Amino acid sequence: MFNELNNRPADSLLALIKAFQADERSGKIDLGVGVYRDAMGRTPVMRAVKAAELFLLENQDSKKYLGPEGDLEFVRLLEPIIFGASPAFGHRLVGIQTPGGSGALRLGAELIQTANPAATVLLGTPSWPNHAPIFGSARLPVKEYAFVDLASQQVKFESVIAALSSAREGDVVLLHGCCHNPTGIDFTMGQWREITDLLVAHRLVPFIDLAYQGLGDGLEQDAAPTRMILEAVDEALIAYSCDKNFGLYRERVGALYVVARNGDDLRKAESNMAALARVNWSMPPDHGAAIVRTILESDEMSAMWRAELEEMCQRVNGNRAALAAAAPELAFISRQRGLFSNLSMSRETAVALRASHGIYMADSGRMNLAGMQPTDADAIVAALRAEGCL
Ligand code: PMP
Repeated sequence: MFNELNNRPADSLLALIKAFQADERSGKIDLGVGVYRDAMGRTPVMRAVKAAELFLLENQDSKKYLGPEGDLEFVRLLEPIIFGASPAFGHRLVGIQTPGGSGALRLGAELIQTANPAATVLLGTPSWPNHAPIFGSARLPVKEYAFVDLASQQVKFESVIAALSSAREGDVVLLHGCCHNPTGIDFTMGQWREITDLLVAHRLVPFIDLAYQGLGDGLEQDAAPTRMILEAVDEALIAYSCDKNFGLYRERVGALYVVARNGDDLRKAESNMAALARVNWSMPPDHGAAIVRTILESDEMSAMWRAELEEMCQRVNGNRAALAAAAPELAFISRQRGLFSNLSMSRETAVALRASHGIYMADSGRMNLAGMQPTDADAIVAALRAEGCL
């Protein structure tokens, strides 16, 4: 039967990692794969995570099954960080642990498909390349609209308004809560307010993807748009990832939260989430969620985590400022947030940046701002100028 399969293209970012490793030039710079890097170019295990792992090693007395909902204490302890202390919609909120933000997106997509198979998912482009395939594989139609003009680095807000205004009641709107991947371009609070009004007026369901909380302007500020939307709408889904802000990537730590209209709907959503989790992965992996729970249960470890996350955030924004200072044409980079910015360039230019200058970024022109040091800014700008990007 396998002869019936078609070959799939290899992941181009993974190929980029290999090419970077094989490059022997000393000045090479890796702006490719989307993980945080410190000033030494490492993606370290966070100090609070190490402390929590030590604590678990000493104190965890069983690894027996927890159930499809995973670690519900982990889910509950994240709530004030994401939604604020005692939000008005708190009694209409329920969550379940998932394997990463990806698992939360997939589970949410299946929940939507089960509840309303007629729903279309509206997706602004460019977006994280896995968004459309995840919704598609859950048999939900995806309607894409242009979200950003990369040449001008501006939000196409009229296109956003047009897409939301022409959607049907019950359609789902995928929104990046903060730190847009791949562009780093987030809506202003004024634009978020307009979007919220449209969601309410057209009875659309927001599906908020929050994968980088704390890496933009800090935990509270990064959650502000999510909280504003949830205060206004009847129903919503939130896919949360701890893989970036706790540096837990391969441990696969996330949660899916749902806001429902009332208690009855909430219980139905909850039981369907558990049933869908059961047929997908049965139960989520525990270790990463246990680490996050252990950190959030301890004032001392929480303070360590918050301080280190703040350092990470400042480092990324410092790199943004350094690039903007090195070239006036790149001033927009200092206004963008999160790990990524997406320059407007052809694939050939991205290849030339690698071959001639040792500067590695995705073929799409997406660059990971955590991959550089502030002192790299001049070399990056010189390469961009040499290749006609500036
Ligand atoms: N959403 C976005 C926008 C992302 O960038 C990512 C990860 N790159 C995810 C979701 C998935 O996160 P996780 O690794 O936790 O599955």
